[in-house]
Order: sequence, then structure tokens, then C-alpha cells
Amino acid sequence: MKNQPLGGNEMPRFGGPGTFMRLPSAATAEGLDAAFIGIPMDIGASQRSGTRLGPRQIRAESTLMRPYNMWTRAAPFEGLQVADIGDVPINTFDLKDSVRRIETFYDEVLTHDAIPLTMGGDHTLTYPILRSIAKKHGPVALIHVDAHADINEHMFGESIAHGTPFRRAYEEGLLDAPNVFQIGLRGTGYGPDDFDTAREWGFNVIQAEELWYKSCAPLMDRIREQIGDRPVYLTYDIDSLDPACAPGTGTVEAGGLMTQQGLEIIRGCRGLNLVGCDLVEVSPPYDPSGNTAVIAGNFLYEMLCVLPGVPYGKA
Ligand code: MN
Ligand code: MN
Repeated sequence: MKNQPLGGNEMPRFGGPGTFMRLPSAATAEGLDAAFIGIPMDIGASQRSGTRLGPRQIRAESTLMRPYNMWTRAAPFEGLQVADIGDVPINTFDLKDSVRRIETFYDEVLTHDAIPLTMGGDHTLTYPILRSIAKKHGPVALIHVDAHADINEHMFGESIAHGTPFRRAYEEGLLDAPNVFQIGLRGTGYGPDDFDTAREWGFNVIQAEELWYKSCAPLMDRIREQIGDRPVYLTYDIDSLDPACAPGTGTVEAGGLMTQQGLEIIRGCRGLNLVGCDLVEVSPPYDPSGNTAVIAGNFLYEMLCVLPGVPYGKA
């Protein structure tokens, strides 16, 4: 019997452990197939703060989720050994030191062959994770769902911030550029280069307007066909969703994806060789209903459901 989330008939859903889905906690990723990890960080954010509280709130709002996926029929806890291994002890007084600490933490996680599922935290954190991932897997394909391209050269003169991770990752050769997909980009910019620079690098940029009123399933069919069996990392910025769905974030843009489209994107990753996933930019102080964190928790569960090795019930 593998680790299971604590059920609502064993302990009321408002009680019990404060781990993701009330899973068992573990000190390390040893023996795990997948590990939930929090990174309580907002010192890379450029607008509203508060994502340091994201992991705690996502865990708190993850308690209603049950183990079986009623639509896709995934039973992730039957096939994978999963636990919550806690938070990365970042240095909240030093972003560059925090980035080093994150990379060191993930280097250790990856020695155990566990797939990391990360709760942010601001989007800076994906850069050190990708550094660690590339050491193990080489340059990876990337599915990046976001309102923003996050390819700034610098922010206020700083090379490391939540708006720069994918430029740094590209420059360092951590990404397989023709197999990078940026989905949901929109809003205002300084000029066309804000998105077109990534296109020049070979990234595939799908702006939010291209997906308005549409299913994202055909897009994901195309992405799966192109990526094939390459190792792929999924990074999901909650601000890709319309603020009507997910108001609790720091850099809000109008006209975003619907929750259903986010689910289609994540479920459309089934069959890919996923080597890591993250969900970033949940800011609880701007999430008075808690629903942004609820959606974030559900999206993390859906990511778990599409990892290699997850069994599916009869259709
Ligand atoms: Mn982002
Ligand atoms: Mn964003």
C-alpha cells in the first residue's frame, strides 16, 4: 500500500496534517516517485507581494481533494509513491542566495529520481529548478503557461527576478528552444520584442487571444506530437488564468484563460515524459475567498495525474 491522502472519513477535512492533500510528510525524496515541495518566496516579485504565503495556503486549501480523478480516471496514488517533503529554506533577505539554495535542494531531490511538484512562490524559482533539471536530463522541452513571457533582460538592473527566468534559462542552454511553448501571453508591453524575441529564439508563443472561446485540447495534441518522448518541464503561472477565475496573484492581466482551459492544458500533458512541474505566483493576501489557492491545488493534483507511471481506471 503506497502513501495515501488522509480521507475525510478518517479525520474531518478541516483537521489533520497541513501537508499537500494531507499526504504523509517525508524528510527527503528517498523512495518517492513524486515529491510535493514548497518554495515560500516573494522577493523576486516586481508588483504585489505575498507569494511567500503561497505554499502554506495551497496546502491549506488542498484538503478537499480526493484521490481519484473523476474525469480522466487517473488513480495517481495507486501507481506512485508520493509525499510532501516540506519547504525549501530560502534566505528571504537575499534573492541570489535563495536561488543557490533552491538549486542545491533540487540537486538533492533529483539524486532520488523523484519528480518534483513545486508550489510557489514567485516565478524566479523556476530558473534554479531548471538548472538542476538540466544537470540530470540535459536541455528540456518546456510548457510555460503564463500571462507573461518572463524573458526580460533585467528588472531594475537585476538579472535575476520573476520576469527573467526563461531568458536566463535560454542563455544557459537549459532549454530545447524549438520545443518551448509559451501559452496564454497577453496584456500590455514595452514593444513587440517583449514576445517576439522568444519567437526569434525558436520558442512557440501562443497568445491568450488565440485561445479565447476555444478548447485547448487541439493545441495540446499538436504540442504532444512535436515534443514526442523528449524530457519536458511544465511551469504554470496562475496569472495565466483570467483574474475572474484566479484573482489572488501579483501581476494581473485582463482577458486570460478559463479554469477549464488550464485543466485541458495540464490533462493534455498526459503521455509526455514529464520530469518536473511547478505552480507559481499564488498570492494569498489578494485571494480573500481562497479560491485561487483551491484552483492551484487542483492543478497540482492534475499535474500528478499526468506523470509517467500513473494508472488509469477503465474508461
Ligand atoms: Mn511568470
Ligand atoms: Mn505571469
